[in-house]
Amino acid sequence: MLQAFNPKNKDLQIYIGDRLYHRDDAKVSVFDSVVQGGDAVWEGIRVYKEGVFLLDRHIDRLLNSAHSICFINIPTREEVKQALFQTLRANNMFDNTHVRLTLTRGKKITSGMDPRLNQEGPCLIILPEWKPPVYDNENGISIITASIRRNSPMHLDSKIHHNNLLNNILAKIESNVAGADAALMLDAYGFVSELNGTNVFMIKNGQVYTPHADACLPGITRGLVIELARKEGLEMIEKNISLTEMYTSDEVFSTGTMGELTPIMKIDGREIVNKHDHSLLPVLQKAFNQIIPSYCESFKA
Ligand code: PMP
Repeated sequence: MLQAFNPKNKDLQIYIGDRLYHRDDAKVSVFDSVVQGGDAVWEGIRVYKEGVFLLDRHIDRLLNSAHSICFINIPTREEVKQALFQTLRANNMFDNTHVRLTLTRGKKITSGMDPRLNQEGPCLIILPEWKPPVYDNENGISIITASIRRNSPMHLDSKIHHNNLLNNILAKIESNVAGADAALMLDAYGFVSELNGTNVFMIKNGQVYTPHADACLPGITRGLVIELARKEGLEMIEKNISLTEMYTSDEVFSTGTMGELTPIMKIDGREIVNKHDHSLLPVLQKAFNQIIPSYCESFKA
């Protein structure tokens, strides 16, 4: 499922620093810390017709990530919101939009990794694109387990949503080579952590499971799905999950802003076979779709 260029995105207005640029002129300096060391934090955010979905949760994670890696002069929640709304209005984007919002440490006075070389910044980048959810949520996806392990707090804490994405990109390359749609990443102990760009859940005998958020990103969609499962009266358990448990579960699905709730049909060549005559994923997908409007922040006026 390789995304294609959408001609509707050819004249995007992109926010960088303090103003909007046409996509052809939207550039950051070669001295920016994101170029120098992937030294930036980011969020993927979705816009539905009712507004920006779960915006405060995304801004919380962005600001906490920036604080954790010692950014100074971090913009306020309100400044980030106003820049985002300005960008969406300038592009007339009021639905079906994905926003990649990045906050870099800013421009350095000379190349190098030392944050003291940053005497400007941070730099806010808001890239909105017309983009429906990227996965086929009816027919599902097929995944393989990557050999590379997901970073743990031992090395690089996944609770920082940072731009050092090579850990996940290497896993994605493994899935490309194997002809799969995404890669399942294990933690340092061999338990399931998440996919290279989304979180993962399994359902077995009516109970819903997801890995502890130790090595995985504590995804915002993951958090909402946990709440929704409990609201639906389902038993929702966070625990260590082995690959064998995944292979033999009734249903497996991924969650993320990029793809919403996506069924996983095959893992490492093993079909996921539901041994029951009912399916719970559609219940969660329906609950998710129904709750969207009440978690959207409107910005049209
Ligand atoms: N895991 C990883 C590694 C991700 O990059 C993302 C999306 N940024 C997710 C999970 C899903 O997180 P969210 O539900 O907040 O989009």
